[in-house]
Amino acid sequence: MLAYTYIEHGKFELREKPEPKITDARDAIVRVTLGSICTSDLHIKHGSVPRAVPGITVGHEMVGVVEEVGAEVTSVRPGDRVTVNVETFCGECFFCHHGYVNNCTDPNGGWALGCRIDGGQAEYVRVPYADQGLNRIPDTVSDEQALFVGDVLATGFWATRISEITEKDTILLIGAGPTGICTLLCSMLKNPKRIIVCEKSPERIQFVREHYPDVLITTPENCKEFVLQNSDHSGADVVLEVAGTEDSFRMAWDCARPNAIVTIVALYDKPLLFPLPEMYGKNLTFKTGGVDGCDCAEILSLIEEGKIDTTPLITHRCSLNEIEEAYRIFENKLDGVIKVAIVCQTESNK
Ligand SMILES: [Zn+2]
Ligand SMILES: [Zn+2]
Repeated sequence: MLAYTYIEHGKFELREKPEPKITDARDAIVRVTLGSICTSDLHIKHGSVPRAVPGITVGHEMVGVVEEVGAEVTSVRPGDRVTVNVETFCGECFFCHHGYVNNCTDPNGGWALGCRIDGGQAEYVRVPYADQGLNRIPDTVSDEQALFVGDVLATGFWATRISEITEKDTILLIGAGPTGICTLLCSMLKNPKRIIVCEKSPERIQFVREHYPDVLITTPENCKEFVLQNSDHSGADVVLEVAGTEDSFRMAWDCARPNAIVTIVALYDKPLLFPLPEMYGKNLTFKTGGVDGCDCAEILSLIEEGKIDTTPLITHRCSLNEIEEAYRIFENKLDGVIKVAIVCQTESNK
């Protein structure tokens, strides 16, 4: 089968590999129908994920059809359409029991797919702990509607869940990339008083204006002033930082009102300064981390009910054979790209 592979620092390549096999009774093999590219894939390519293993198939956002299951798998059957979770988790350890599945103590726990074990920018993928890692897609939900459930949308849902948003709140969301927009969609479900999105790209500002007309928009240069003018208590009640730069981090706590919650969703590529003397007296609560992707069933129900729709994020479509070009477009943010849907079945396998 074809599999997009991490060769070495700076280099991914489409290679021919054997199809994956069941190696544990809790595994499933999934025939990948659609995959996508995530910014974390680029982090692997550029060496900022040291635990990524050269030779692995990349890709951790995908949907597909269950091809085969191990003897102990009970929640899915061959033929089921499923979303695949970015995280591998056992469902049994202390962290899993508390919903902190990102910290599952299994050796492959957390983000392993497409990083430490073979992922899904390929025709087939082996999913460990399939009872946890796969969720059945409702019949009325399409593959494209479900494509982001296991990763970016799970991240937005988790970030919103831990941010304790109420209907009286002014939310500041920094960064309207794919994860930012997913976080926006999930924040809207909490009916806050206002949502302010801060974004610098004119194309992305246009995207937000077009699709989410109720949202207020500002740019980094004007952000603080805009938030002061458009909030009730001298700053945002909740800040969600999804942009991931030094400046956006500073903006996040600077635009928060005293006693606000600041949730850091972004992954930074270098250490940041936490200027506690400057923050002193603001009494902020910071929440950080990697997604605990254990809400996928609930997210799928919300999609089924029409409450979340991420299909506008799919701006580009291509086949697995064209993945190199898809990476070029995604990495360089060309042509108004937000997300790419990659059809992973080549003709011979259909
Ligand atoms: Zn990702
Ligand atoms: Zn666990």
